[in-house]
Amino acid sequence: MGEPIWIPRQAYGLMCALGEKSFPLETGGVFLGYKANNGELVVTALIGPGPNARHSRYRFAPDAEYQQEKIEVHHARSEGRETYLGDWHTHPRGSADLSSLDKRTLTRIADTPSSGTGTPVMAVLGGESEKWDLNAVRFDGWTRRFPFKRCNLVPLLPRLYDQA
Ligand SMILES: [Zn+2]
Repeated sequence: MGEPIWIPRQAYGLMCALGEKSFPLETGGVFLGYKANNGELVVTALIGPGPNARHSRYRFAPDAEYQQEKIEVHHARSEGRETYLGDWHTHPRGSADLSSLDKRTLTRIADTPSSGTGTPVMAVLGGESEKWDLNAVRFDGWTRRFPFKRCNLVPLLPRLYDQA
């Protein structure tokens, strides 16, 4: 179960190609798109890691400046309709599940107003060439249960579509 997240077939192909290019180091980037009237998330464009990203075996730090610029250009070009939806990254030879660090990163994005979304997506592409597995979740607020604050993560079902 879960909400669908629509990803262009071409963008999914690019994620796999970027994952293979950096393999066995992690890579990643950003999803751009919009929320449809029915509430489903539609990815329309993918941003890669950027030239100054740092790729490690179990860690990936994007080129934030590059990504911010790409996000702004895309946002303006779509007349404000398409915006930052969330991040994606690879787990080479690993599972597509979010690590605890990934969850912390996701909650930090949700708590950063300048990210432009309070309900960011995080997608993980785990595995290797020909055997990639894509998993995605959406942050959906906090459950306040004293003394711990827990985050609600909604599982998303990645569905591929062909862009017109
Ligand atoms: Zn991760």
